[in-house]
Amino acid sequence: MNFWRYLTDPAVTQPAREFATTHVTPAADQLDAEDVYPVDLVSMTAAQSWNAMTLPTRYGGEGAPIEHALGVFEELAVGSASLGISLITIFQSQKIIELYGQESLKERVLPRYAEGLRASYALTEGAHGSDIRSLDTKANRTDQGWILSGEKAFITSGSAADFFVVLAETPVGVSTFAVPRETEGITTHQTRDAETFGLRNGPHVNLVLNDVEIPHDALIGVEGNGLKQALVTLSNSRTLAAGISLGIARAAFDGAFDYATGRGAFGGKIIDFQGIQWYFAEAAAELDAARLVTYQAAQDLDAGREYQRSSSAAKLMAGSVATKVAGMAVQVCGARGTMESAPFGRYFRDAKAYEVAGGSNEILKNTIAKALVKSRPLEED
Ligand SMILES: Cc1cc2nc3c(=O)[nH]c(=O)nc-3n(C[C@H](O)[C@H](O)[C@H](O)COP(=O)(O)OP(=O)(O)OC[C@H]3O[C@@H](n4cnc5c(N)ncnc54)[C@H](O)[C@@H]3O)c2cc1C
Repeated sequence: MNFWRYLTDPAVTQPAREFATTHVTPAADQLDAEDVYPVDLVSMTAAQSWNAMTLPTRYGGEGAPIEHALGVFEELAVGSASLGISLITIFQSQKIIELYGQESLKERVLPRYAEGLRASYALTEGAHGSDIRSLDTKANRTDQGWILSGEKAFITSGSAADFFVVLAETPVGVSTFAVPRETEGITTHQTRDAETFGLRNGPHVNLVLNDVEIPHDALIGVEGNGLKQALVTLSNSRTLAAGISLGIARAAFDGAFDYATGRGAFGGKIIDFQGIQWYFAEAAAELDAARLVTYQAAQDLDAGREYQRSSSAAKLMAGSVATKVAGMAVQVCGARGTMESAPFGRYFRDAKAYEVAGGSNEILKNTIAKALVKSRPLEED
């Protein structure tokens, strides 16, 4: 039984679906319970050429469209959202270097992603979450390059990352820097708030930069352009984040449907009650719609069309639908839905956490509204 047809090339998505069934789903509960980074799975996805699939071939990638990456992210997240977010921080950090980095930085770093480089994208600080227009992490230019000092908070994949993309403020504004983990002055630590109830791929770390010296070309793109770069990078990754939410929703739907067809009550099966069927009918309709919006956002990105609105709409819709479907799945499965030994709590926790991480629902609505207002026809005099 599979309710969800491929919305992009099956030659790309079918291997990911098979990989998820064989390798990811069996590992998912343990990853979540122990809150650890899926080191082995991320090496295996690199071997499948999925970690760098959208990078140009000259940097070791496949030159694949975002739509294909979305197909892979969705299928893998059916198995585990923890694997999904491990891959998304890899994607974010490579995308910003691909789009804006100097050629010397690209040549030095980008080919390492295909070999399994693990990476994080560090925007947030203790005092700056949604609003990163000014930052407490500072960068100053020297004759040799740059010196960075400060502390980033809540960094996903940071427990295992070999490489960090860091936002820091210079005298002309927020800027973006590439920082290898082995650089002197870099440390990570976990605060008592480091563990989240969802999207658990190892505790989020605080990244401390203590007079970290990096070369000139570690500045990604133009000094002061960090916010613009983040907006573009996040629009790319929000479409893949939406894919992760779709994967969570599908796993919850399928698990609950399976349970409802087997569970007996009142002389029949749970699925025979119209009240239960309507849950699934509504969830299927909303999930179908969220999938279409998300694949459309990927197509907008690939075609170079306006994508701020569509990628934000994709993450908003897919994230909300995932939380709703995961809640429905708990309800339909009754006591089984609430059991620690069942995966439904994990689906629910992962889905809800993704309505905050990587652009909260409110920030997504702001972005959509801004795009609408910007494109309104001007009044004639
Ligand atoms: C699981 C998880 C993983 C994360 N991973 C990373 C990571 O890898 N790297 C990283 O840099 N950060 C990461 N973060 C941090 C994340 O980006 C921030 O949590 C997010 O930007 C929101 O910031 P905040 O939590 O400080 O909320 P705040 O900015 O304090 O906002 C609190 C509430 O107010 C709302 N709000 C804020 N501004 C507005 C506005 N203008 N209009 C309407 N509502 C508004 C928010 O949506 C939210 O509901 C992660 C967070 C989570 C939960």
